Amino acid sequence: MSYVKCLTCKQCNNQYPIDPINVCELCFGPLEVSYDYEKISRSVTRSSISNGPLNIWRYHQFLPVSLENAIDIGTGFTPLIHAKNLGALLGLKNLYIKNDSVNPSYSFKDRPVAVTTAKALEFDFKILACVSTGNLMGSVGAHAAKAKMKSYVFFPKGLEKGKIIGSSIYGARLISVDGNYDEVNRLCSELADNFKWAFVNINMRAYYAEGSKTLGFEVAEQLNWKAPAHCVVPAASGELHTKIWKGLMEMKDVGLIEKVNTKMHLAQPEGCSPIVKAFNNKETQVTPIKPNTIAKSLAIGNPASGPFALKTLKDSSGSAIAAPEEEISECIQLLAETEGIFTETAGGVVISSLRSLVKKNKINSEDITVAFITGNGLKTQEIVEDTVEYDEIKPTYKSFEEIIKI
Ligand SMILES: *Cc1c(COP(=O)(O)O)cnc(C)c1O
Ligand SMILES: [Zn+2]
Repeated sequence: MSYVKCLTCKQCNNQYPIDPINVCELCFGPLEVSYDYEKISRSVTRSSISNGPLNIWRYHQFLPVSLENAIDIGTGFTPLIHAKNLGALLGLKNLYIKNDSVNPSYSFKDRPVAVTTAKALEFDFKILACVSTGNLMGSVGAHAAKAKMKSYVFFPKGLEKGKIIGSSIYGARLISVDGNYDEVNRLCSELADNFKWAFVNINMRAYYAEGSKTLGFEVAEQLNWKAPAHCVVPAASGELHTKIWKGLMEMKDVGLIEKVNTKMHLAQPEGCSPIVKAFNNKETQVTPIKPNTIAKSLAIGNPASGPFALKTLKDSSGSAIAAPEEEISECIQLLAETEGIFTETAGGVVISSLRSLVKKNKINSEDITVAFITGNGLKTQEIVEDTVEYDEIKPTYKSFEEIIKI
């Protein structure tokens, strides 16, 4: 807490106290946490971080919660894998997979939610709530359980079974809404005005967003205190893309890494690619669309952080890619068969986009490139179900011989 200064409006820079608020009263812009970077740089060194806990709280000085209030179910410090096999196939010598699908509830959402849950306790909320595209609801359920809070999760009708079960199991109260994400979000914004709940991605959004910076910190630390040349990041609201960049910049600002020449590429599925469209049309605002994609975790048609993702794309000289729908399950399989990592649809979108960046010569063979795998394939099994084949035999030697013609 002592490293945090205030909340600042991202549009007009007006300042606010640290409260559960997310919108500027003057211009309705989103609020963001501001820190005392002088103080942070006096308190952190590479070795103080290296000796810290093996979870997101090793970067606690950069988070808006004091360490004693940390909620920990093992979130963060996920593997960064040198993807030599997939790299060889694509012609990349230095391709890395940041495998964030092995967090406690099997997606990167555990990072923002761990931070928000701790902050919600500091604000003395009793109920944690969210609007989810699928992964957030599992994470909110898990962290609420650990924090002994109740949880309410709202989601658009028709989500994958694995995501619904993966939230219900923690005792969350599930509300399926007959509408798309943007409609559920509108409903919950109204609820947040009237219920004294911590909606992680509405009234708590400023704190929530900070958690995703830890992906940027970790990647730089794991690359031996260097920023990569390229990041390939999936986008729904666009927040993650923006916050990985913020994480890298903060590390540079406090002197933990020397420079950031990272190109922040943004990946969306073709059936829901409003940020990609806006970027390619050189717009500074995103025109909302109606999502129609198998990548349900990325199905946000009216992305709250769209304009900031556009700015990050521009500031970092990144590219925006729409992955063809039919490549998503193919690329889930490609990653699994080359690297032994089973990702969900969002990961399929990332690998397809990575391949298209290489084809367009946007990534050179030596460049240090990180593909962010943010969710786990066990939650979206229905997408690849029809690729499964197996033999059935009797429990006899002969029966096996019949199928295995050597
Ligand atoms: C939510 C989600 C994203 C996108 O996050 P935003 O910050 O909304 O852009 C990416 N991947 C997975 C697996 C997700 O669940
Ligand atoms: Zn403002």
